[in-house]
Amino acid sequence: MDEGDVRDRLRTVTDPDLGDDIVSLNLVNAIDIDHDESVIYVDLVLGAPFSPSETTIAADSREALSDLDYDVELSASVEDDHDPEDEILPRVQNIIAVASGKGGVGKSTIAVNLAAGLSDLGARVGLFDADIYGPNVPRMVDANEMPSATEDEQIIPPKKFGMKLMSMDFLLGEDDPVIWRGPMVHKVLTQLWEDVDWGYLDYMVIDLPPGTGDTQLTMLQSVPVSGAVIVTTPQEVALDDARKGLEMFGEHETPVLGIVENMSTFHCPDCGGEHPIFGSGGGRTFADEVDLPFLGEIPIDPAIREGGDDGEPMVLGEGETSEALREFTGKTANMQGIVHRQGR
Ligand code: ADP
Ligand code: MG
Repeated sequence: MDEGDVRDRLRTVTDPDLGDDIVSLNLVNAIDIDHDESVIYVDLVLGAPFSPSETTIAADSREALSDLDYDVELSASVEDDHDPEDEILPRVQNIIAVASGKGGVGKSTIAVNLAAGLSDLGARVGLFDADIYGPNVPRMVDANEMPSATEDEQIIPPKKFGMKLMSMDFLLGEDDPVIWRGPMVHKVLTQLWEDVDWGYLDYMVIDLPPGTGDTQLTMLQSVPVSGAVIVTTPQEVALDDARKGLEMFGEHETPVLGIVENMSTFHCPDCGGEHPIFGSGGGRTFADEVDLPFLGEIPIDPAIREGGDDGEPMVLGEGETSEALREFTGKTANMQGIVHRQGR
């Protein structure tokens, strides 16, 4: 048994998103066989840890080698052309920015649930509340612990539901009026990624403020955002704003992972009827129109607001809305993986 045999077996493993086998897709970086210890080492191009598709690829790869009487050690690495020396957040593998054209569409809700959902899948996750004008992530997850500091002045983010949290809300007094101008925005955000001890993360989810202002500009120019998620409600006006957000990411060559429609149809628990209060289907139509993936529709559910007000992210619960949020989380992670694997 040699490298060629291993490679041939790996040809039976199909990438569920790209639809071809992983050898043809160039997703096998290296194969090493230790005959003395009976171990096969395989390094694959996988960049979105715990995404459903990459979990499947890893499991299928193990299965394909399972008849060889060797232990199989899989590792994953993606090439990147960043210089770790001058890179910002070098220990963070994926940085997903959640954006919307306007406020009130559920951007923070989506960011919190995406982060909690990824964490629940097993990933190491940070949630960075960059909405310095309306930082409400800590309240949404009911974070009662404040950040602490290390001896060398690094800020240690508190953890909630397995996620490391950072928000301006921690650093401001209760009623401080926040009037940030451009240079201050830059300074305060820089602190939140440079002076915080984020550690190794598979994903950092960033809750951006709505629109296309200074924060977005600072983040997109300074931080290696690996993917953006655009949140919209079904109405025409929300979609118009979402379009502008999309242009902004295009200008900065940030991959957009897709569009998620929030506050879709209300499924009435009393009458059993479906009420599209803000309309429905707008998000999907928009995604088709701009040729981007549609990441899902999250129904209007009063429990989201209630969960949002007392802590537990809905994605961790039971029922239709929780299921929709989990599906959205999986699709988003899969899209991030596609961005990496397609680069081959
Ligand atoms: P944004 O960050 O875009 O301003 P939020 O996430 O703060 O929006 O959401 C605005 C309000 O709407 C919050 O009270 C939130 O709990 C509620 N909300 C968000 N999504 C839903 C939904 N799908 N169903 C019901 N309420 C929702
Ligand atoms: Mg918000």
